[in-house]
Parts: sequence; structure tokens; C-alpha cells
Amino acid sequence: MSSALGLLGGTFDPVHYGHLRAADAARRALHLAEVRLLPAGDPPHRAAPVATAAHRVAMLELALAEFPGLALDTREIARPGKSYTVITLGELRAEAPLRPLALIVGADAFAGLPTWHRWTEIFDLAHVVVVTRPDAPLPAMPDGPLAEHWAQRLQRDPAALESRLAGAIFVLPVPPQPVSATAIRRALAAGASGVEAVRGMVPPAVLAYIDRNQLYRSRPDAT
Ligand code: ATP
Repeated sequence: MSSALGLLGGTFDPVHYGHLRAADAARRALHLAEVRLLPAGDPPHRAAPVATAAHRVAMLELALAEFPGLALDTREIARPGKSYTVITLGELRAEAPLRPLALIVGADAFAGLPTWHRWTEIFDLAHVVVVTRPDAPLPAMPDGPLAEHWAQRLQRDPAALESRLAGAIFVLPVPPQPVSATAIRRALAAGASGVEAVRGMVPPAVLAYIDRNQLYRSRPDAT
């Protein structure tokens, strides 16, 4: 069986080193052939992104120049309607019937999984890799509807991701990156001091793009 394809979905509004380093750490630790970043068009679980899809894609393209093992997949932006992960995974499965898929999610996103559209079907299509986030510690054992899946699917050996196409949960503690898109947008809305504050949180080419296009200047938002 071929090595797993890693997938990290998100709004990437904007992409930052938290996303990039977590994806790259997962790629290395799990020997993934590649990790694809999939920007959402119309995310089902949150407010509409601040930056347009075209800007978010342009920033991802610039960011990925620093990370050769990561790639961009814009299918959720191209597809009309809500960006449901289960639909995306179904498409990827149809394209590569024998390739294990590994959906990478931050611990915060994992905790919200039971609110996702047809969420239990996700385990039929992909493994789920939960990565550390500074503000969302990894659960020892989640409550509620995830508990049963956790008990049945948790794997400690990363080889499980290659020996089956889907269905495992794997927890991967990656070095915590204290970065969030919300904090970056808030800082940028504060003006020049904010630009200095976010330096180091996003690739320099992304910051230059934000500046050139005057993104996130005047819309502090609560999301
Ligand atoms: P916001 O602050 O607006 O919520 P975000 O960066 O968390 O933005 P997304 O772009 O939707 O939002 O995140 C995409 C995925 O990346 C999610 O699975 C999220 O948990 C994960 N992620 C985001 N930031 C980090 C981080 N610093 N470390 C690890 N994973 C992260």
C-alpha cells in the first residue's frame, strides 16, 4: 500500500506558521508522501473568511515556497456550496482508491468533530491525526459522541496509518506554535505596531502580500 496522503483543511485567513509547521511536522513524523492544504470556500462552522478566496490562495502559494513537502489543493474553493470535509474526502478517495488518507486536525477542531456534516463517515474515508495546539490540550479521553470512536480507533503505532486506508485516530504532539489567525487579524487591525507583532508568525512573503494588498487593516472581528 502507498504511503498516506496528509490533508489539512482550514480557512487560512491568513495561513501562518502554526498551520505550516504542524503540517510539516506531521509529514515528517508519519512519513507522509505529501500534506495538502485545502482552503475552505464557504466554511460550515464559522463566520465567512475576512479575506477573499483569491487572497487566501495567493498567500498559501507564497507560504508553500518555504515548505517543499506541502502542497495546495483548491478544490473546496472551486466547488460551489459548503466546504464539507466528508465530500472532499469522498472525492479524494475516488481519485486514489488504494491510498490511505490522513486528515490532520488541531486539537480544537477535533473536539468539534461531532458537529461536522456526516462526521462518522469521515472515519470510513480517512484516518484522523490530532495535532497539539497551545490553547487546546490533547484530550486524555474525549467526552460525548467521540468517546466511543476514541476507544475503538486510537492507535499508538504510526504504521497503522499505512496498513489501512482509513479509520484510525492517531495523536501527534507537535511542537506548539502559539499562533492563531484570529490573533494575527486583530494585531494587523491595530496598525503598524501590529505588523511588527505578527512578524515571525507568518512567512515574510505572506506579510509583504498582506501589506501590499492592505488586508486585515480595518476589520477587527470576533471570530
Ligand atoms: P482562527 O484563529 O481564526 O480560528 P485558525 O488558524 O485556528 O484560525 P484555521 O485556518 O481554520 O483556523 O485552522 C485550520 C487547522 O489548523 C485547524 O485544524 C486548526 O486546529 C489547525 N491549527 C491552527 N493553528 C494551529 C496551531 N498554532 N498549531 C496547530 N494547529 C493549528
